Amino acid sequence: AAKDGGRGRHHFYAADLHSDAEERRQLEADLREAVAIGGLELAYQPVVQTTTERITGFEALLRWTHPVHGPLSPTKFIPIAEDVGMITQIGEWALRTACMELAKWPESVRVAVNVSPLQFANPGLPAVVTQALANAQVSPDRLELEITESVFLNEDEGVEKMFAALKRIGVRLVLDDFGTGYSSLGYLQRAPFNKIKIDQSFVRGATQAGSPNGAIISSIVSLAEALGMETTAEGVETFDELDLIRHLGCSHVQGYIYDKPLTFAEASARLASGLTAIPSGPRSARATR
Ligand code: C2E
Ligand code: MG
Ligand code: MG
Ligand code: MG
Repeated sequence: AAKDGGRGRHHFYAADLHSDAEERRQLEADLREAVAIGGLELAYQPVVQTTTERITGFEALLRWTHPVHGPLSPTKFIPIAEDVGMITQIGEWALRTACMELAKWPESVRVAVNVSPLQFANPGLPAVVTQALANAQVSPDRLELEITESVFLNEDEGVEKMFAALKRIGVRLVLDDFGTGYSSLGYLQRAPFNKIKIDQSFVRGATQAGSPNGAIISSIVSLAEALGMETTAEGVETFDELDLIRHLGCSHVQGYIYDKPLTFAEASARLASGLTAIPSGPRSARATR
């Protein structure tokens, strides 16, 4: 199209924009349909305690297999759900489903559910959480809510009130994707987090000589420990990364080195064969070079 000169080019862009909007509208309709017919699922990725290699819980991750396009990333369809106001319903479904499935697992296991900033801004959230727990009859301290720093961008007292209300229910609060936001350090004193998840962008490259990432992870760990919080390193893929994460003292690890997100059946089978996780993967990211 670039060879066509001015006119063709303009035409090309116009057509492209049109099809983007079209595709987007179609996805929106398909997502609505999927929600209506129960076409969403949760995948569960093990979270492993560094020192013992025990599975302490799972992160629940939304999965949608589109009838035409196949599996779609939540990074693609969650923003759509947020834009068109479907995230409240989808988020409530995720909370209820995760609690029901958690009820079938050993008491020592927790589940972590991601909460969109839009759900967090909804005063109805504590009631939804309470209901989901009561329905499934699971104890609140087995449920973790993963919240990103972006909830703090909403500068009103509603944020602190929401954290307090959730804390009163007895669920655990987790700060997700730590380090990717604006002034992360200040946020730590504004909410009673039990755990910080160190974003995988810090893990990536941390094993490379000269990278500052190890020092950054190390200071996040010290800070978390001083505040009585646990730390999960996200996105650990290689043995070198796992060794480093252990050395830096992160209390938990989550990543392909232990497991990719599993179906509920796979996760259940994994638990039935024991709570110990076994790492497998490449020694280093460059091993295949
Ligand atoms: P997140 O909460 O930070 O979830 C971690 C993401 O990292 C997941 O991607 C997971 O599959 C991926 N991951 C885990 N280990 C590794 C690894 O070793 N290497 C690599 N490359 N990736 C790894 P996923 O499932 O595609 O989810 C992406 C994001 O979508 C999540 O990031 C979260 O922000 C959002 N999301 C997923 N499920 C939900 C949900 O139920 N509600 C809301 N509001 N957001 C969700
Ligand atoms: Mg998360
Ligand atoms: Mg994360
Ligand atoms: Mg993320």
